[in-house]
Amino acid sequence: MSLKILLSGAKGRMGQAIRSIAGECGCEITHPVDLGDDPTEWIAECELVIDFSLRDATRPLAELAAKNGKPMVIGTTGHDPADREAIEKTASTIPMVWAGNFSTGVNLLFYLTQQASRVLDANSGFDPEVIEMHHRLKKDSPSGTADRLLEILKDSRKLSEKQVSHGRSGMVGERKDDEIGSHALRGGDVVGEHTVMFAGIGERIELTHRATDRVIFAAGALKAAKWVVGQPPGLYSMQDVLGLQA
Ligand code: NAD
Repeated sequence: MSLKILLSGAKGRMGQAIRSIAGECGCEITHPVDLGDDPTEWIAECELVIDFSLRDATRPLAELAAKNGKPMVIGTTGHDPADREAIEKTASTIPMVWAGNFSTGVNLLFYLTQQASRVLDANSGFDPEVIEMHHRLKKDSPSGTADRLLEILKDSRKLSEKQVSHGRSGMVGERKDDEIGSHALRGGDVVGEHTVMFAGIGERIELTHRATDRVIFAAGALKAAKWVVGQPPGLYSMQDVLGLQA
């Protein structure tokens, strides 16, 4: 039996990628919704909700899913802290996978970054920087994936958001030890590239993931959808889905 899915953002790039492979992943997009549609009309009929739309659309949709006891998979990025908190709250009553990136390779990059940042810690003399590149139409910056990589580095070095330097410009002075650089490049049709760099004196380590087809995110989101149905309520990551815990 196919999993019946309400997909929000169904006409977008990711929505179309998900629709193109849903059948072969044992899923059916029974309710494709986009801007102007009202998901409350169909929420009762679906078994799960997937959101790949716009950041303002996620919170009301998560509250609707929670009210109706429907598990949820969220891929949308760019939410502000208040929305994040409200969305996370809904996961106390439904199982939810929320990931800034659903590709297996990127989740391995998260895992490797966690491992590397343990060895290359604040006393190692290595300076961490995150560089990402996406297509010219991407609206939010840095990407959700870059945010997650920055979070891993901040947690490991016990740094706050204030200590992240986004795109240095002007007389910013020498690089501080307790600083993480973040740089977003935009252009062309780049699907998504992320590099975590640890720059030391006399050597440099770079961990890079390059996505060439957004079908990898679609396949991951559908894998998460099949996994999350039947899990107890709570907030899960793609690393939980893949069994990749540091
Ligand atoms: P897109 O702009 O191509 O598509 C977004 C779609 O959402 C559009 O069809 C738009 O009309 C629709 N939309 C806007 N407001 C809506 C609303 N209120 N209700 C329903 N639909 C609405 O964007 P995209 O490239 O498909 O990406 C969508 C989101 O997914 C972005 O936030 C992007 O950063 C994120 N993304 C996440 C991953 C991941 O793996 N987590 C991968 C790629 C993209």
